[in-house]
Amino acid sequence: MEEFRTGHGFDVHALTAGDRVILCGVEIPHSHGLEGHSDADVGLHALTDALLGAIGDGDIGSHFPPSDPQWKGASSDRFLRDAKARVLARGGVIIHADVTLICEAPKIGPHREAMRARIASILDLAIDRISVKATTTERLGFIGRGEGIAALATATVKLRS
Ligand code: MG
Repeated sequence: MEEFRTGHGFDVHALTAGDRVILCGVEIPHSHGLEGHSDADVGLHALTDALLGAIGDGDIGSHFPPSDPQWKGASSDRFLRDAKARVLARGGVIIHADVTLICEAPKIGPHREAMRARIASILDLAIDRISVKATTTERLGFIGRGEGIAALATATVKLRS
């Protein structure tokens, strides 16, 4: 018997002084940076939580506590690879991943295909199983004021039950 499960994830990081952000594994020159213990990649953090959610295996903070100095400045593909390994260890297969980045800037469109390719590479999936979308909050709230960037993610996995 096989069953399909869907998990979701959400993350926010504050914008701070800097000259680049890393979103969905892609470095983008920007007027600010993202604040965080790791590389602050909100997209990969949300997607990591979506995969962990699908298999009911805690969250990114429980596996990689921000209090642990070894994750300082860590490249977030490491977190996503760990979540993938946890799915595989359960005999699971990742079917699809869908990420929505929520920000006023930088513009995501020009980087969308690079982000899809990066996620596909990390998860070892065909690119047509990966979606990256972007929206703004119409200048409302903390995202609209450019104080931070948020990301939502959904992932579907097939498990043997
Ligand atoms: Mg995070």
